[in-house]
Amino acid sequence: MTEKEQYVLGIDIGGTNMRFGLVDSRHELSAFERLDTRATFAEGCDPAGRLAECIRSYCERSLSGAMPAAVSIGFPSTINRQRTVVVQTPNIACIPDHFAVVEELEAVLKVPVFINRDVNDLLLFDLEDLKVTSQDCVAGIYFGTGIGNAVMVNGKILLGRNGVASELGHLPVYGNGKVCTCGNVSCIETVVSGIALEGIQAENFPDTPIQQLFSTQMHTSVMKAFLEGMAQVVAAEANLFDPDCIILGGGLLQMPGFPRAALEEAVHRYARKPYPERTLDLRYSRPNQANGSVGAAIYAEKRLADPNYL
Ligand SMILES: [Zn+2]
Repeated sequence: MTEKEQYVLGIDIGGTNMRFGLVDSRHELSAFERLDTRATFAEGCDPAGRLAECIRSYCERSLSGAMPAAVSIGFPSTINRQRTVVVQTPNIACIPDHFAVVEELEAVLKVPVFINRDVNDLLLFDLEDLKVTSQDCVAGIYFGTGIGNAVMVNGKILLGRNGVASELGHLPVYGNGKVCTCGNVSCIETVVSGIALEGIQAENFPDTPIQQLFSTQMHTSVMKAFLEGMAQVVAAEANLFDPDCIILGGGLLQMPGFPRAALEEAVHRYARKPYPERTLDLRYSRPNQANGSVGAAIYAEKRLADPNYL
């Protein structure tokens, strides 16, 4: 670590862990650390105060008390279009709704603070990691606890009027009566996601650990139907945006024996003919727990370089 190097502190907040890392101008990561999310944001705490404390103590350990050039945080949340307020975080109870995190942190840390949806940061990372150069339209779909989704159009992440574009997991599905964590009924992630797979495991395969479902139960109609559902999600995105490429990732695809070939065959079946089916370009995110921290830093770099970039 040279003294002249400017680092961005990239933070990726998940339901279980918060991941901290210093990222240099070549996007190399150092001083990677994980903290427990729930322990950090204990019930009734001042979330901005706790976050500022964590950042300060991290900088004490990793930068000898100096501050980074910027702090960039990815949240598993909806975020306002101006990227200043965390609007809603369904899976982390201790992060309050309408959390004005940028204003509160900048007031105490005295460095620029940027926030983004975690999947947007992940897509920025994956585009660089997978060396995707065409950016007319690129989509990332991450099958984890829910369905994470980010879309880039003309080199910019699609935000939408309110900053909440690309919520593919909350696509309503006709005939599905299940209640989603977002409060609505019939969202596709109630039937195609990690949470849905937990339900399938409990109901149909109580003796098979969830990690073994793809490697041992793909001959069953239940698991075949689940994979079809995943393919329909991907094909819906392809049919909607006709993207240059779709990057697939998330915990489900990392499970042992995940049937990529069968997924791809089904995506081609559901994609419209002749296009976008004929030119479908499906790529796979390279899983690493630090990806979100580096992606957050890439986002900060874009914000610092262009005041109009959101
Ligand atoms: Zn929903």
